[in-house]
Amino acid sequence: MVIRTWSTSGREWVLDEVVGSGSEGVVYTVEHRPGLVAKLAPLAAEPDVYRLRLESLVRQGREPRTVKLLRGTPSRLAWPLETLVTSGGVIGYLMRDMRRAYLPFERLLLPTARRESLPEMTWGTALRTAASLAILLADLHSEGYVVGDLKPDNLWANAEGRTGLADIDSLQFTDGRRAYPCRMRSPGYTAPEGIDSDVLPDRSSDDFVLAVLVHQLLMGGLHPFHGRPADGRPYFSLDDNVRNGRCRLTDPASVVLPKTAPAADLLPRGLRNLFAQVFGRSGRADPASRPDAAAWARALQTEARPGRLTVCARDERHVHTVERPWCPWCDQQEHGATTWGATGIRPGHSEVSRP
Ligand SMILES: [Zn+2]
Repeated sequence: MVIRTWSTSGREWVLDEVVGSGSEGVVYTVEHRPGLVAKLAPLAAEPDVYRLRLESLVRQGREPRTVKLLRGTPSRLAWPLETLVTSGGVIGYLMRDMRRAYLPFERLLLPTARRESLPEMTWGTALRTAASLAILLADLHSEGYVVGDLKPDNLWANAEGRTGLADIDSLQFTDGRRAYPCRMRSPGYTAPEGIDSDVLPDRSSDDFVLAVLVHQLLMGGLHPFHGRPADGRPYFSLDDNVRNGRCRLTDPASVVLPKTAPAADLLPRGLRNLFAQVFGRSGRADPASRPDAAAWARALQTEARPGRLTVCARDERHVHTVERPWCPWCDQQEHGATTWGATGIRPGHSEVSRP
């Protein structure tokens, strides 16, 4: 079933297939325009405000404020290009189809899916991806945008380690004297001050979630607050662990993790210090004390330099920091899990040919 929509100028855009949906709306392909998709938001809480928000974003996409953000190919942001309205009054917008240049970020956090989609990727690519995400966030912050609902679902990445962001309609920003807040929250991707609270996010809330995502990228998808409480209390949620400071990096005695988790000491000192500043007591209680996205970008770019990385003698996909004398990915395989490289080959053993 096709849906007819019209942009502000009166031009008709026909939407056909559904390519994705979430709580915030439904995304469709656009007839005869393979590079574009359209999002409709039939459940927008305040349709009039949502329309103003979209019109403001479309206008800003043509103003100096977004020049640096939208520069480069492929585009890093699925910025709203035109507002749309259906005959039934449902509002939405046109944007670039991120699927043409990127994979869903989520696939990078699931070792099996990542090996399928990006078999050439290594820990070095993960560092570059994390740096690219930090730069994207720093650039958004410097223009006054807060992502607010930063999470894997909204992110994209490619084989070169470039990242992109969609769901631009949920950004928090001001336009003149009008403020457009972000009230979306996602479990596991909310800074402590936003958990069970109506406090609006700010740059430092994004910086907390950036650290979570960087940890996941560098640790085979492992969330920094993953784990069963070590004191015997029941596990409720990642957010509950965040609130109670149950984090292996900052308080190793607080959680029990499966043996298959990558070793905490695979992180170089510089990054471990940054994580400690975010996930430790002060970083959780005092948002202003967290390292900002630009600090993360610098640290990650430093660690991604060739002189800072080494390759394991047993598997060329086992890339790790020079600070660790032996391969953390071989260690992980000894425990029965594989984040990078060939599966099913135990270190120290040659591959057995099939009978
Ligand atoms: Zn190895």
